[in-house]
Amino acid sequence: MDEKIAKKLHPETLMMGYGYKPELSEGALKAPIFQTSTFVFKSAEEGKEFFELAYGQREKGPTEEIGLIYSRINNPDVEILENRLAVLDGAEEAAGFESGMAAISTVLLEFLKPGDLLLHSRPLYGGTDHFITHVLTRYGINVLPFTANDSADDIRMKVKNSGLANKLSMIYLETPGNPTCAMIDLEMCVQLAKEFSTKERRVVTAVDNTFLGPLWQHPLKFGIDLVIYSATKYIGGHSDVVAGSCAGKAQLVKRIKTLRTFLGNMADAWTAWLLMRSLETLKVRMDCQARNAEVIAGFLQRHPMVERIYYAGLLKEGCSQDVIFKKQCTNAGAMLTFDIKGGRNEAYKFLNSLKVIHLAVSLGGTESLAEHPGTMTHIDVDPEERRALGISDKMVRLSVGIENVEDLIWDLDQALAAASVKSTVGSKPQSILEHSS
Ligand SMILES: *Cc1c(COP(=O)(O)O)cnc(C)c1O
Repeated sequence: MDEKIAKKLHPETLMMGYGYKPELSEGALKAPIFQTSTFVFKSAEEGKEFFELAYGQREKGPTEEIGLIYSRINNPDVEILENRLAVLDGAEEAAGFESGMAAISTVLLEFLKPGDLLLHSRPLYGGTDHFITHVLTRYGINVLPFTANDSADDIRMKVKNSGLANKLSMIYLETPGNPTCAMIDLEMCVQLAKEFSTKERRVVTAVDNTFLGPLWQHPLKFGIDLVIYSATKYIGGHSDVVAGSCAGKAQLVKRIKTLRTFLGNMADAWTAWLLMRSLETLKVRMDCQARNAEVIAGFLQRHPMVERIYYAGLLKEGCSQDVIFKKQCTNAGAMLTFDIKGGRNEAYKFLNSLKVIHLAVSLGGTESLAEHPGTMTHIDVDPEERRALGISDKMVRLSVGIENVEDLIWDLDQALAAASVKSTVGSKPQSILEHSS
């Protein structure tokens, strides 16, 4: 497709064919799966030219494309996928990975070295938290967490008090945070990165945008350098593929791709093909999931067995979290966390009583899932820390799918009723029956 036309079109339109030329593949409407490890050069001279570019030995000519060499370096399916992922985030370039953790670990390793300081938000995805706390520190990288409760001044003080302000190299964020949906102000972090940058050392900012992106939160527009995904979640969307990605300025993504080549954790042709197929329905899926989540949030808010809901769509008008949400997100998304009345027993009874919603970790797929963060996804978080973050035994996390919302509400209602039976001392089971009638 002509780049001029492409610029005028919406991302959801471009997801059908952008970056793919049927005439290069026997006219096939859809990109074939280029299941090949290596590519044949037309001549020895061409092979030399491709390698010179791939290894950065000379600059690319004005119309020159990096040629196909070997599938650890590049592959047509992966390149088309990357073009489409870049479109979704308004990025110059994107990189596909074999998992979200592959994308996250590669980005952190590329921009940090021994002695450096990494400033990061908390809570983080469990795997990311583990990689930062237990792996990066093994290589002499200093790490400093902050939470959504910290103001810009609090964070400035933390960095200064660490004695390593002149070593700050990266700010890594996850917002909304999992599982509490706590919001971190992206603009505030971009400002902090600027303040701590020097001529020789530019502080790089990266955001794990898995929960609301690439539809409802576009961190690059707020000046963030890199946006990262577990494409296993909404981008893949069918709970049948593990993948990841990272997008941003070409200059930074090129560095990430170079490290990817040597770590060997790039997405393969089959993964890229599955994700391309998923991207065609990304918008309809996510819109439907978010609509369902909104209805479910309303239902849960009125339910006597529900003590508290963590969902951006129900934040108190004008509170600081709401201000951040309205500034940087366009939808509350389809992740819903709530505290059930009672404790672990009630939470487990609820989870064990679900009939439509599956009891499983992961999120973002077409089917609804429920889990218990305290003893599942966040079991590895230090217990004291877990309490401070508000991840208690009565907390349940839902990933809302595209099923008929009435069926989901029926299921939630009967599971909440089952959880309430003879468990909360002094509660009246009739109130549940009244509700469900
Ligand atoms: C699942 C997830 C990851 C890890 O991604 P994988 O594809 O499982 O490696 C990272 N961040 C968030 C927010 C996630 O939900």
